[in-house]
Amino acid sequence: MSCLFCRIVGGEIPATVVHETETTLAFRDIQPKAPVHVLLIPREHVPNAVDLTAEQLGALFAAAKDVAEAEGVAESGYRLLFNTGPDSGQEVFHAHLHLLGGQKLQAGTA
Ligand code: 5GP
Repeated sequence: MSCLFCRIVGGEIPATVVHETETTLAFRDIQPKAPVHVLLIPREHVPNAVDLTAEQLGALFAAAKDVAEAEGVAESGYRLLFNTGPDSGQEVFHAHLHLLGGQKLQAGTA
């Protein structure tokens, strides 16, 4: 199993898990870009966000809402984003939703 996030799902690589369901896993980013930086992934290997089924997407967004509440950023606000493909800076090709918050975030840049 060579996919990094599949190895986290399998427990082969440790991660700080903050939320989990039957189909999703949420854990802290190892190099956080904000005070709260959580990655939400489907347990099943899907390379890119655009390959996710509607059901998988729904599950990720429902989990994101729960994580935002648990992390105390639901009211102050947070950013959800998918990097998709090399030009976006995507490094791990197992679809993951970034949840960033805990500070005033800069507006998106090109
Ligand atoms: P991408 O650039 O592909 O959208 O985001 C990949 C994210 O995964 C990066 O923010 C990076 O810091 C994070 N990351 C890379 N390797 C690991 C790891 O082994 N554990 C955790 N928790 N996060 C990782």
